[in-house]
Amino acid sequence: MNNGMKVEFSRHNIGMEEKEAVFACLDSIFLTTGSVVSQFEKEFARYLNLKYAVGLNSCTAALHLALLALGIKKGDEIITTPLTFIATPNAILYTGAKPVFVDVEKGTGLLDHNKIAKAITKKTKAILPVHLYGQMCDMKAIKKICGKKKISIIEDAAHCIEGRRDGVAPGELGDIACFSFYATKNITCGEGGAIATNREDLADQIKCLRTHGMSKSAADRYVGRYQHWDMEALGWKYNMSNIDASLLLNQLQKIEHFLKRREEICSQYEQAFRSHPGIKLLDIYRQSRSARHLFTILVDPKKRDEILWKLQEKNIGVAVNYRALHLLSYYRSEFGFKRGMFPMAEYVGDATISLPLYPKLDNREVEYVIKSVKEAVKS
Ligand SMILES: *Cc1c(COP(=O)(O)O)cnc(C)c1O
Repeated sequence: MNNGMKVEFSRHNIGMEEKEAVFACLDSIFLTTGSVVSQFEKEFARYLNLKYAVGLNSCTAALHLALLALGIKKGDEIITTPLTFIATPNAILYTGAKPVFVDVEKGTGLLDHNKIAKAITKKTKAILPVHLYGQMCDMKAIKKICGKKKISIIEDAAHCIEGRRDGVAPGELGDIACFSFYATKNITCGEGGAIATNREDLADQIKCLRTHGMSKSAADRYVGRYQHWDMEALGWKYNMSNIDASLLLNQLQKIEHFLKRREEICSQYEQAFRSHPGIKLLDIYRQSRSARHLFTILVDPKKRDEILWKLQEKNIGVAVNYRALHLLSYYRSEFGFKRGMFPMAEYVGDATISLPLYPKLDNREVEYVIKSVKEAVKS
């Protein structure tokens, strides 16, 4: 019935160049954080047109250290969205601060900046917008809200390296942006992350905090005469290795090329689903470039799970990004959240289905996904 077709939800795009770079790294003396990481940091910052980047082992680590570097601590409140991966509010909890959810826009699923002002209290120290699915939040509006009140901005840009909005890049108006190189992200080394910022003080602190707060990194200690190191602050073990950076340097070279193919696939999906009964699509802002990380459709919430299963039966990999986080057991019991508190996030969370979207997807596979989705929605 499906001609043996199997369409994975995600497939990485590690090519020969990446493999050769990893071999070269393995033949070198230095596997941990060293010159390859420094080179990646330089090129990643240059791609974003920001001054500094720091390589880490995940975006979760990036969010945690970004919050710490901005002085976030117990008792503080951080405004964020309930429609994101759990890493976002969990990183807030690691610092002892409290995540304060603000509902999303129905049309885009992005944090609704018009609802931020009402959630601000004396304890609000930062806002953590998430550039969901690759589309940036309205950073100009968010900056305007925060500017007067001395509220920091940390951007969760795990979905959005390539995105821009109103000419603004991730990390440009915020104090710091956090990125992921997890296996399914737009560029990957399996597990990895980074921060990027124009603030030297934040970059310096995070470099120190990523290896236990040690005053000298392994690379510093390797060159020249032995020197004692000191511990200046309580840090974590969140550094990126040269092996990861070898992969990422080559992935970064291809980032625009990858995006172009995902854009083609998105326009095929959009054409097929735009006015199809039973399917709704999210809005994309005109004055923006989406990083096109995930392609989602919205269906009748009562039928969503059944449609998911039908697509799986047709050997199509699907996902849900994301069910509204305030409804997960831990957040319900810890904070007393209930259904009805963030209705737009709940609606998207109950209606959304993510379809396969990656450069290796060929046109035959895209057509098979389209046909199967239409069948699954109809029945
Ligand atoms: C993937 C993801 C993260 C976490 O990234 P890791 O590198 O896996 O820690 C954080 N936020 C969002 C929105 C993500 O999609």
